[in-house]
Amino acid sequence: MRIKTTTWILTGVLSFGLLTAPLSMIPNSVNIVGEAAAATNSPVTTKVLGKGTSWETTMYIIKGDKPGPTVWVSGGVHGNEPAGYKAAGQVKNWKIDKGTLIVLPEANKVGIKKFRRDSGFGDLNRAFPQSKKEGADNALAKAIWSEYLKYKPDYLLDLHEGFDYHVQNKDSVGQSIIYYPTGNMDDYASKLVSKLNKTTAYSKRFSKLKYPVGGSLARAAGIFGSKSAIFETGDDDPINTRVKNHLTAVEMFLNHAGVKVTAK
Ligand SMILES: [Zn+2]
Repeated sequence: MRIKTTTWILTGVLSFGLLTAPLSMIPNSVNIVGEAAAATNSPVTTKVLGKGTSWETTMYIIKGDKPGPTVWVSGGVHGNEPAGYKAAGQVKNWKIDKGTLIVLPEANKVGIKKFRRDSGFGDLNRAFPQSKKEGADNALAKAIWSEYLKYKPDYLLDLHEGFDYHVQNKDSVGQSIIYYPTGNMDDYASKLVSKLNKTTAYSKRFSKLKYPVGGSLARAAGIFGSKSAIFETGDDDPINTRVKNHLTAVEMFLNHAGVKVTAK
């Protein structure tokens, strides 16, 4: 890409007969490449939620070159579910071809520091609106929800982990995609489960579930019109396997939204 851009610029200059100096004297080709790169790479901006509080956390807004859907990915809503926030910590460095990718890798910073589910305000995943008339319950949930309302993501995926495996224990949501059944989310859930189960032991296979629990970020997003889901790994597997499964879920979610990941 960089070589092509430079070549095009040089060819343009040569074809207009403006180049009289030897190639070695062409003014700073690094700058030319740098400018081209700045125009084509996805710019990233950040925003700190709750600045100065114990729960302050950074959100990343990654733009693709072309217009497209807005996709939200969050992790760490529960601080003792590390695969989700470790995966989201990688996703925040991804580049996309179109649209906007919003990543909130560590939604519940207090819980992550203490490796606890609780956020200091209670269970963050029960604090979001349960109807269109409601708001969020506490300062942390309100800060996150106001960003949700600002960006109105077309798609929202929240990354979690469950104890145990749903196929072995119906009280567990481990290894599942829990989706809000609007749009074509059933199609995404089916494709994801089918892909992950190719590399997952049958006794731990992924399941499709609905709906996300009341008060969860994904449920609230579904009520407010996003195509949304919670992805859950089972916390008995090695962390690398769990993170890899989260990354697959996120990339397939972006692809489902029509967005390609161009760099990781
Ligand atoms: Zn969770």
